[in-house]
Amino acid sequence: MKVTFPYMGTTVVYKKLLEMLGHDVILPPKPTRTTINLGVKYSPEFACFPLKVIMGSYFEAIQKGAEVIVTSGGNGPCRAGFYERVHQRILESEGYDVDFIVFDSMFRDPKTFFRNIKKLRDRTPWIQVMKSLLLIYDMIGKLDNLEKKVQCIRAYEKNRGETSRIWEKIQYDFDQAFSFASMKKAFKLGKEKLNSVPIHHIEEEEQIRIGIVGEIYVVMEDSINMKMEQVLNSLGAEVERSQYLSQWVTYNMLPKWMNWTHENAVLKKGEPYIPILIGGHAKQSVGQIVDYGQRKFDGVVHLMPFGCLPELVSQSIIPKISEDYNIPVLTISLDEQTGIANNQTRIEAFVDLVRGKRKQRLNGKTKLSRNKREHCCSSS
Ligand code: SF4
Repeated sequence: MKVTFPYMGTTVVYKKLLEMLGHDVILPPKPTRTTINLGVKYSPEFACFPLKVIMGSYFEAIQKGAEVIVTSGGNGPCRAGFYERVHQRILESEGYDVDFIVFDSMFRDPKTFFRNIKKLRDRTPWIQVMKSLLLIYDMIGKLDNLEKKVQCIRAYEKNRGETSRIWEKIQYDFDQAFSFASMKKAFKLGKEKLNSVPIHHIEEEEQIRIGIVGEIYVVMEDSINMKMEQVLNSLGAEVERSQYLSQWVTYNMLPKWMNWTHENAVLKKGEPYIPILIGGHAKQSVGQIVDYGQRKFDGVVHLMPFGCLPELVSQSIIPKISEDYNIPVLTISLDEQTGIANNQTRIEAFVDLVRGKRKQRLNGKTKLSRNKREHCCSSS
C-alpha cells in the first residue's frame, strides 16, 4: 500500500514502522507556508489550526501518490475526534478517494484497534509485526532521550546550528538501523556526538530552564510553532517539552490499573485546577505547569492553536497556577495569521524576565541553601 501519515515531530519513527510492515511510504513534506495555505483553502474557516495544517499535508502527500492515510483518533469534548471524518469529506469533495486507518487507544475499542493492525500488517507475518513494534518502541525511547539532550546542549553551543545538524544526522542513523543492536549503536554514537559539542561555560545564575506545554500538535511540530525550542535555546534557555512520543505511546499502551506513567502523574497534578477531562490536552497542560513549578523550572511557554477550546480553559486557569507555584507563564496563540516578529519580541522579553527572576531568587538564598542545578550538558 502507498501509505502516508500526518507530519508531526520525529517522523522517522512512523516512516520506519510502516516500512517494516512492508508498505511503500509516501513521506509527507515538512509543513511550509504552501502546506498551510493549501489547508486553509480547503478547511472550514473556524476549524482548528492543526486540522488545517494536516489537511494541507494530506493534499501534498496524495499528490505524491499516497492512497492510504494512517492517523490517530481523538475523543472527549473537543473537535479532535472529528478530524478524520472532516478530512475525508474534504478530500472526497475534491475528488480524492483515499482510505483512512485511524488508531485510538486499544482499551477504548480493542476490536477496531486490532482490525486496524490486521489491515496494516497486510501479509507481514505476526512475528515480524511484533518485532517491528518492539523495535520502534525501543527507537522512540532512545530518540526522545537524545532529543532531551539536544534541547539542553543547544542552549550553550559555541557554534550556532551545530547541535541541530547533529540531531538531523542522529535521526538519519536511526532510520538506517534495523535491529536492536544497530539501534544501540546509533544511540551510543549519537550520545558521543552530542557530548562532543563545544559549549560555553555558563554560571549557575544564567542557567534557565523553560518548559513548553499545550496542545500536542503545536507543541510537537516545530514548523508551525515558530521553531519554539530552537528560539528559546538560541536565547540561552534549556527547554523541555510536555509531550514526547515515547511517553504518549507508553501512556496509551498501559491499562489504567498499572498506568504509573509520567502522563498519568501529570494528569493527577492538574486535577485541583481542572477536575474533569475537557478534551485536548488542557488537563495535561495545567498539570505539567504544576510539575514544572515543583521541579523549579524558571518559566513555561504555553502554546495553543487559536480558538482551541480546551486550551482556552487552561489559559484562564494559568494565572492562578502561576501565582501558586511562583512560575511565570507566557501563552502564545498560533494560527495561519501568526506573525513571527511580534512573537519573537514577546519571547525575548519573557526570557529576560525569567532570567531576572532567577537571579533575584538565587541572590535571596545563601550558596548552601540554593537548589543546586546540574548543568544538563554534564549529565551522561
Ligand atoms: S485540542 Fe484544540 S486544536 Fe486540538 S482538536 Fe481539540 S479544540 Fe482543536
